[in-house]
Amino acid sequence: MASVIRPGTAALPAPLPELPARYERAADERVNRVGAIPFLLMHLAPLGVFFTGFGWSELALCVGLYVTRMFFITAGYHRYFAHRSYKLGRGMQLLMAIGGASAAQKGPLWWAGHHRDHHRYSDTERDIHSPKRGFWWSHMGWIVCRKYDATPIHRIKDFAKYPELRFLNRYHLLPAIALGVACFALGGAKALFGGFFLSTVLLYHGTFSINSLMHVFGTRRYRTADTSRNSMLLALLTLGEGWHNNHHYYPSSTRQGFFWWELDISYALLKALSWVGLVRGLRSPPARVLAANRVDPEAS
Ligand SMILES: [Zn+2]
Ligand SMILES: [Zn+2]
Repeated sequence: MASVIRPGTAALPAPLPELPARYERAADERVNRVGAIPFLLMHLAPLGVFFTGFGWSELALCVGLYVTRMFFITAGYHRYFAHRSYKLGRGMQLLMAIGGASAAQKGPLWWAGHHRDHHRYSDTERDIHSPKRGFWWSHMGWIVCRKYDATPIHRIKDFAKYPELRFLNRYHLLPAIALGVACFALGGAKALFGGFFLSTVLLYHGTFSINSLMHVFGTRRYRTADTSRNSMLLALLTLGEGWHNNHHYYPSSTRQGFFWWELDISYALLKALSWVGLVRGLRSPPARVLAANRVDPEAS
């Protein structure tokens, strides 16, 4: 990860590295208006609750689908497929990929491949979703840009060798459609609109806020070469991803909340899964890494 300041590096940047205030986007980096229509319709779909009603059972379903699928995105798409920060057997690997795809955030190879580029080029001109290219662009514009539709397969060859993952990456909507159909079959239109669609849209913005907000708002503990920040609120909403400055500093760690008070629900769940042998090789930063390269060496 070229952009990360390694522990023990002699020349450190200031608390916020010196970077241009803004990058201009190229002519082909525009929202694809036709391609964005399904994304727009997905945002309109939860409005169906005004016709179907929204009760306690829909609220419970919405929260349940949000938390479950956020776990698959953070623990699966992010910490496993993008960073290989722990180990899974082939069956669990596929389960994580199917769970992540059920959030309708494209396929695991697409998601993790682009994310590897984000770490490689964080906040430089080659970072395709740096907020320095525009806040809303970093939040969701780049996702509906034709230029970035393709999977950067060269970045994710290690997982692209699995045919089941290539299949899922190609037909990435299947798990999300199956989940939507199941909600409708079991709970009717109420469950479809108030459970499936509403939680899917909330999941979008929970995930996207890490790319946008977490490079703009929050605190910095570590002197990284990017603008990443930490936020307890975003960590709560994203099951631990809000410790984004920690994560950019030491991305190979499964654990992103580095201290006991930094709530990291995804890591806690992975830890529980490790006790029953479903995951293994979870990683945490060593003490010398935790102590080095602090913005404020006095602060905890
Ligand atoms: Zn990452
Ligand atoms: Zn980032």
